[in-house]
Amino acid sequence: MNGFITAIGCMKCGRCDSVCNAGALESIDGVVRIDYDRCTECMRCIIICPNKALRFLE
Ligand code: SF4
Ligand code: SF4
Repeated sequence: MNGFITAIGCMKCGRCDSVCNAGALESIDGVVRIDYDRCTECMRCIIICPNKALRFLE
């Protein structure tokens, strides 16, 4: 697991949090954080993000 980043362009819509079945995403004061121990790399958050603010780093 190499992780994700949140990039410039997050409009704090909360969609990524709503699709994560693993409970790996949380939004703190509008900043999305990822719990890498929980993330299953399903990519649902990346697909749902309207601004492509989440990216998978290899
Ligand atoms: S890749 Fe899947 S499990 Fe990981 S944070 Fe995104 S939605 Fe959650
Ligand atoms: S889906 Fe994208 S724009 Fe919306 S809160 Fe998540 S990272 Fe930000």
